[in-house]
Amino acid sequence: MFQSPSQQIVEGVAGSSLLPTSPLLPTQPVAQSKIPFNQPYITGRELEYMQAAIENGKLCGDGMFSKRCQEWLVQQLQCRSALLTHSCTAALEMAAILADVQPGDEVIMPSFTFVSTANAFVLRGAVPVFVDVRSDTLNLDERLVEAAITDRTKAIVPVHYAGVGCDMDTLRSIADEHQLCLIEDAAQGILSEYKGKPLGSWGHLAALSFHETKNIISGEGGALLINDPAMIERAEIIREKGTNRSQFLRGEVDKYTWVDVGSSFLPSDILAAFLFAQLEQSRSILDQRLAVWNCYHTGLENLELSGQARRPIIPSDCKHNGHIYHLLVQHPETQMALIEHLKANGIQATFHYVPLHSSPAGQKYGRSSGSLAVTEQISDRLVRLPLSAGMTLADAERVVAIVQQFFQVRSV
Ligand SMILES: *Cc1c(COP(=O)(O)O)cnc(C)c1O
Repeated sequence: MFQSPSQQIVEGVAGSSLLPTSPLLPTQPVAQSKIPFNQPYITGRELEYMQAAIENGKLCGDGMFSKRCQEWLVQQLQCRSALLTHSCTAALEMAAILADVQPGDEVIMPSFTFVSTANAFVLRGAVPVFVDVRSDTLNLDERLVEAAITDRTKAIVPVHYAGVGCDMDTLRSIADEHQLCLIEDAAQGILSEYKGKPLGSWGHLAALSFHETKNIISGEGGALLINDPAMIERAEIIREKGTNRSQFLRGEVDKYTWVDVGSSFLPSDILAAFLFAQLEQSRSILDQRLAVWNCYHTGLENLELSGQARRPIIPSDCKHNGHIYHLLVQHPETQMALIEHLKANGIQATFHYVPLHSSPAGQKYGRSSGSLAVTEQISDRLVRLPLSAGMTLADAERVVAIVQQFFQVRSV
């Protein structure tokens, strides 16, 4: 039964034993290297750039590498302005201030998201109003948004789940008609497109994440993208502790002072240097992720045909970035059983999200609009497979084989 890792890789590349019609694979776990859920990918130039940042002698925020990163983001993501932050959470907190969210105001968002989407607005005293997601993309269901609007509504925050774009055309016209601020939680969406335009270029504001679990990383990190020109100057002030320091540094004012609310949202230029090395290589990072994603998608097609699991659905308007590969299984028991089976075979898989409307803080601070039936169904049935840029196709084939094995044993 024992196979050395190298034998397994050769088999994986040939793919012959991986077809769904092949005999059952050994059910005993075999000794081979573990496949982590996420492995931060390093391009190789991070240290060199960090050293350059140190030698520049300017270690605080908005140094040379911060500027380079911001220019890159403006160019590649077609936004008006980009400001690095120390996280996507921080960028969302800035967005909440910029959208002038006041205590008691309401902000429409999915419940199927990470806590920061809601927390940033709760910090300003606002009420997150949870709306269900579409069953295909698992993104905010634009058809349910208007019913959630009240005279306290201030903003809509669509989340581009798995880097697959929300229906931004519809959301944009709803936001315009009701004069609401449209804030994209594009934490997972870097370099994805909707109708040929990058995610992050559609809303008044958008927030990116460079957390180590995302596609492009700096350990912790993020950016606020600003498309509404009227918000650019205030964004700089909020990010610089409520001072007009940015204008002072550009020579636009002769002294800098406290002019507005704010906080410290800038990352050090050392981290920006790390990030720049990643941004430079971002297309190749995406290609590597997409290769793994496509390997899963092809290798697991039969499960969808047999009705055992549903694969991700990418609408024709969307170009995605290979951020997440998930399966939706039929029953909650199957979710845990599949994760356990993968774990027994050295493969780390996960699930998410605990819907915010059912969480203790979500119940305390938020409210739901209408039924959240899709959200409730998917969070109990979703399994995320390992996906990182450095992952080999042999590893991806091995994951496919173990998933196939799980469903074959079950259907016997
Ligand atoms: C990761 C993530 C965040 C938070 O990002 P940080 O950079 O860790 O603050 C927010 N929203 C969504 C949808 C995310 O996936």
